[in-house]
Amino acid sequence: MVEDERTVASALRRGLQAEGYDVDIADNGQDGLWRAQEGSYDAIILDVMLPKLNGFKVCRMLRDEGNWTPVLMLTAKDGDFDVAEGLDTGADDYLTKPFSFVVLTARLRAMLRRGSGSAQDGSSFEAGDLMLDPSRHFCERAGTKIDLTAREFAVLSYMVRRSGQIVTKGEILDNVWDYDFEGDPNIVEVYVRRLRKKIDEPFGCRTISTVRGVGYRLESES
Ligand code: CA
Repeated sequence: MVEDERTVASALRRGLQAEGYDVDIADNGQDGLWRAQEGSYDAIILDVMLPKLNGFKVCRMLRDEGNWTPVLMLTAKDGDFDVAEGLDTGADDYLTKPFSFVVLTARLRAMLRRGSGSAQDGSSFEAGDLMLDPSRHFCERAGTKIDLTAREFAVLSYMVRRSGQIVTKGEILDNVWDYDFEGDPNIVEVYVRRLRKKIDEPFGCRTISTVRGVGYRLESES
């Protein structure tokens, strides 16, 4: 847990320990980054507003180094936090302060269930010339590597696994954001738009089609 407010950090640690988690606390971004790099954690709870290095930067640096430890980001209530922008740093989920401890542990459990992908068997998914390998968090189209954030990768993986079929926004939400997602379901549209920009537009493709009023379909052929 990377959190500089000591009372918040110690209260959360006590609660999490009572749930059986083993928790280390870093009280600034630099220390948090270092611990995440040196240690082997199942998940990181990362505050955004931190001394020395903010949470966005910490997350971005970890992802750039290929560290895909699941990150739950804690954001301020009235900050100018843009959800899509925040998740773009590679965070897996976020919670707005103040949050309930019950919600925090539910999100944490969901994140741990999904894991960082490293425990998977290395099998990759393909749809036409689009290839995804969850074990390496790797995506390429026609041999060109495509950089995706953790969440973009999760949305695309789900669509590729169901390629050729219509998937609804609700199904994407359920599979990528979990049942307890309390934000705006239109977040799915945001992600589909971003995926099109990354996997389709640069290649002159239209792999993801919108099925009006129903959802989306990812073409199984290129
Ligand atoms: Ca803080």
